[in-house]
Amino acid sequence: MDVDTATTALTAERDRLLHDLAQLRGELVDPGRDSAERLGAGSDAAVETLADELGEGMDEDLQASLDEVDEALRRITDGTFGICVDCGQPIPDKRLEALPASARCMDCQSKSERR
Ligand SMILES: [Zn+2]
Repeated sequence: MDVDTATTALTAERDRLLHDLAQLRGELVDPGRDSAERLGAGSDAAVETLADELGEGMDEDLQASLDEVDEALRRITDGTFGICVDCGQPIPDKRLEALPASARCMDCQSKSERR
């Protein structure tokens, strides 16, 4: 995967996560009808119910995903993007296309999840 494509994908993902986080934390004060429609969001009530139900756990998940995306963007700057952080082997393009923020190849990912 080339760096430009990865940067575009990661930046878009980052924007989405930041938006979700802000929404979850109630930082989007009255986004207004236009933006709600543009984003295809449900009603405010639905969003609040979702936030209440999922609460902290969802916040942490989003923050963790955001951290992963930030790490991936930093690896692009470092020139190490697409290299597994554990074994140093290239991460297959297919995996990066599906998950641009991947820090590990499949093997190392499954090992790290088993830890
Ligand atoms: Zn690996």
